[in-house]
Amino acid sequence: MATLKPIESLTPAQAKREYRRLAEMIAAYDKAYYQEDAPKVSDAEYDALRHRYEAIEAAFPEFGGPDSLTKQVGAAPSEKFAKIVHRVPMLSLGNIFSDEEVGEFVARVRRFLGLATDAPLAISAEPKIDGLSCSLRYENGHLVQAATRGDGYTGEDVTANVRTIQEIPHRLRGDAPEILEVRGEVYMTHADFAALNERQMAADKAVFANPRNAAAGSLRQLDASITATRPLHFFAYAWGEASREPAETQMGMVEAFKSYGLPVNPLMKLCHSAEELIAHYHAIEAQRALLPYDIDGVVYKVDSIALQKRLGFVSRAPRWATAHKFPAEKAITLLRDIEIQVGRTGALTPVARLEPITVGGVVVSNATLHNEDEIARKDIRIGDMVTIQRAGDVIPQVLGPVLDKRPAGATPYVFPHTCPVCGSAAIREIDPKTGTEDVVRRCTGGLVCPAQVIERLKHFVSRNAFDIEGLGEKQIAQFYADGLIKTAADIFTLQERDAKSLKRLKDREGYGETSARNLFEAIEARRRIALNRFIFALGIRHVGETNARRAARAFGTFEAFRTIASKAAEGSDERAELTNVEGFGPVVAEAIADFFAEPHNQQVLDALLQHVTPEPMEAIATASPVAGKTIVFTGALEHMTRDEAKAQAERLGAKVAGSVSKKTDLVVAGPGAGSKLTKAAELGIETISEEDWLKLSGS
Ligand code: NAD
Repeated sequence: MATLKPIESLTPAQAKREYRRLAEMIAAYDKAYYQEDAPKVSDAEYDALRHRYEAIEAAFPEFGGPDSLTKQVGAAPSEKFAKIVHRVPMLSLGNIFSDEEVGEFVARVRRFLGLATDAPLAISAEPKIDGLSCSLRYENGHLVQAATRGDGYTGEDVTANVRTIQEIPHRLRGDAPEILEVRGEVYMTHADFAALNERQMAADKAVFANPRNAAAGSLRQLDASITATRPLHFFAYAWGEASREPAETQMGMVEAFKSYGLPVNPLMKLCHSAEELIAHYHAIEAQRALLPYDIDGVVYKVDSIALQKRLGFVSRAPRWATAHKFPAEKAITLLRDIEIQVGRTGALTPVARLEPITVGGVVVSNATLHNEDEIARKDIRIGDMVTIQRAGDVIPQVLGPVLDKRPAGATPYVFPHTCPVCGSAAIREIDPKTGTEDVVRRCTGGLVCPAQVIERLKHFVSRNAFDIEGLGEKQIAQFYADGLIKTAADIFTLQERDAKSLKRLKDREGYGETSARNLFEAIEARRRIALNRFIFALGIRHVGETNARRAARAFGTFEAFRTIASKAAEGSDERAELTNVEGFGPVVAEAIADFFAEPHNQQVLDALLQHVTPEPMEAIATASPVAGKTIVFTGALEHMTRDEAKAQAERLGAKVAGSVSKKTDLVVAGPGAGSKLTKAAELGIETISEEDWLKLSGS
């Protein structure tokens, strides 16, 4: 932004060009943020663009037609959802950023209402929750519909999803109005956000940028059973259509919501002057770091509903309320280096190594650079002075270089095309559907990349892979650190090496004769292993349990699979054969081909196969009553684990799915089954108990 011309010096043609360009950028960012829940830029950057756009429009009002972004809220609802037209629009809020502007806001309200400066005027102040707004429609006390804000006039139907949020009552308590649309914020706590991202990472799925996006991404799921697994919360703070208003004030309405059993925020306070509002703003700001959820400011609302009605709205925001935003904490420091970290799945992540600097009371020496494209787009170079920003608990990020301070000789950053740890090729996959490159570059080194190796070894011995008793994550990390297990093959030579070693396993801390013997026996027992488990254990990208089973079924032996996969260069018959395996597609086929194309992986396999014999999968019965059917297990199973049930069903030739859809043939429901059972009933799908299942499967 430092290089932008002052608006006064722009010619109308220049202004128009910039105004149009900004509109395009903002619209693209809005789409990513509101529809895809995956922002492309930070809020501060986005706000700066919008600010410039608004300033140009203020200087050239003729640009601002009905399509101006200053008149729009959010983004159109996604086509993926059914639409709900809001009976009362869900609008945005105006923004203020300084204490001084609080006084101006109060003065504006007084002026509009014709109130003398000493006439009483009550205004509430409450945290601005950083989630997504949602409207809940209750009829006769029953929750009948829930919608997102969308573009303010039409939102997305998320009724089934909202029903899975425990905190939101399906039935209101007490004397609620016949029709009441309660509005508020759906949010996710910091702890739940961190846990969700960990799970996403472990499952090789995209992680969310912040709790707001995680909450939005979790609520806006087409399959409500996914929402049900995401811990979401809700604060009620506003309303839409109401057959009767149970109170005459904002505070009174929120009290009423509370009495109906809805969660409300405890930090809301009634104030009587700008000074009191400012004091409460700073009190909330001081508590911000201790709150378990993100807030990005404090919202002030004129308390009297009669006055709210008189004040009304200006374009996309009420005149009777405003959001006093917290400043983003920024600083400028030297970018000493860009380090590339390699994650479990081989993702290359650039990290900025900074000259340490204090930002908002915290010393920052590392910050995220997101990915290769972001570095190129912002043209960030080693040696640059960079602006960094820390917002809430989110990892600090590099906003961009300060160009006037760029040292002579700084060269554009070249992102490595080989893994900095193992030297294997690092590639960006192409999405065959969209033809676009994945933003993440990944190391193809697989089993031999030291950065990935520990995590991969852990995967190798995990429950659905080799499942070696006594060799869990902790032991793998320990043995790796001691140099005892570096590759999967080392597991099978452990006993032999131990016999010759001076430092015997039985003498190690935490071990004895028995535990050492047990471990060796457990390893011995796995020298023969089902082919599907063996393939799964290799940790090939996109080859989870299901795809490993498909490969095992399609090829029968590991040799057959390996022969095809090793020759599956793009365009070859072998690649076509892989792509055509039932349930695979181009992405899976490519991932398999890449894995086998790495000479390191082939060496590791050769070593491993000297010790381990993959055996054909158990025969699949085709005459069973469930052969070819799709089954969903839900609720608690009392006689077997989920894994067991799944394996059993698959042995009988059935497919096991995680969620209920029209394609489901049978639902097996144990106690505590919830939304999946409801959905099965809605779709008229046959549902049986675990006992019936045991009879049916002949167990
Ligand atoms: P807003 O989020 O600043 O304010 C309006 C919203 O505040 C309401 O819709 C409501 O959901 C929420 N809110 C939370 N607590 C509230 C309370 N106690 N009372 C009333 N409302 C409360 O405005 P907006 O138009 O929804 O979105 C703009 C915001 O989104 C900006 O912060 C912007 O930076 C961000 N954004 C970022 C990107 C990006 O790419 N990074 C893109 C679009 C928008």
